[in-house]
Amino acid sequence: MPRPPRIAVVGSANADLTTFSDTFPRPGETIFGKSFDLGFGGKGANQAVAARLCGADVVMVAKVGSDLFGEATVKNFASFGIDTAHVRIVNEVSSGAATILVEPSGQNRIIVVKGANDTLMPADVDEAAAVLRSVDTIVLQFEIPLETIYYTVQFARKHNLRCIVNPAPALPADLFELAATDYFVPNEMEAEVIAGLPVHSTEEAQNCAAALLTRGFRKVILTLGARGCLLASAGGCELVPPFPVTPKDTTGAGDAFIGSFAVFLAEGLTEKEALVRANLYAALSTMRVGTQKSFPKREEFEAEWARRGGKP
Ligand code: ADP
Repeated sequence: MPRPPRIAVVGSANADLTTFSDTFPRPGETIFGKSFDLGFGGKGANQAVAARLCGADVVMVAKVGSDLFGEATVKNFASFGIDTAHVRIVNEVSSGAATILVEPSGQNRIIVVKGANDTLMPADVDEAAAVLRSVDTIVLQFEIPLETIYYTVQFARKHNLRCIVNPAPALPADLFELAATDYFVPNEMEAEVIAGLPVHSTEEAQNCAAALLTRGFRKVILTLGARGCLLASAGGCELVPPFPVTPKDTTGAGDAFIGSFAVFLAEGLTEKEALVRANLYAALSTMRVGTQKSFPKREEFEAEWARRGGKP
């Protein structure tokens, strides 16, 4: 048996506090909502869980607050078997928290407080350097300070580790600092913001990915929701078709895609094979409600892969 891939996520962890209500309070008013759900989220944490469920050994480098959510987040990672030796609990700052208000139509309003995520610094990457040097792939998102992301990209380059950057949520970043990344993986909206070009059609998506290549990236993967994804590199642009599903909740599909892609690639599959599988893994995650709780286990993925004959 080959050893499982080793993936590190240097990223965010949040508590997702979701309130479902028919109406919303006016200033000064208190009302009763319908129901409440407490979940674990944050793009970094979600991608770590997806990679773990796909069978990788996963190391999380993150910071949480010294509050109820901080300890619960560490326990949640541990319950999946994710290495939490570098998840630090910090004093005098809250855990990252997303307050999510959901209308009956499903429309939501979200306020994210970055809290402890905003204190994850290059020094924390140095502290985890020994374990980070032992992984196959480092995965990054944009929910921690940009300086830490730039530093980690250089760290990965220096130590010859594969590096995947998911620029979510979209922020004006210094692309020159990110150019050493192996795979730059935005969704349509993030690609639009970062490249400053519209992405409504497949043709526009191809143009946008090509424009990102001219900004210094070697490989760009654009996730296209129900249209699958595309890979752009010096060799050209290839569309990878989606697996048809009836989605219930697409939240977290991008995280499922990236976490699983990192694992499939580290298992030695070609980019194309890894992308086809990541398309299925992410599609399956849309068939259940929630983020982490919607991600399939590897066995479930393999059963569905076999059932569909590995073809969209
Ligand atoms: P994000 O969740 O970041 O907005 P996308 O919406 O682009 O990202 O979705 C990520 C991936 O999830 C897509 O590339 C695709 O593989 C899969 N996916 C998302 N929505 C669907 C869908 N409705 N049908 C099939 N696959 C989907």
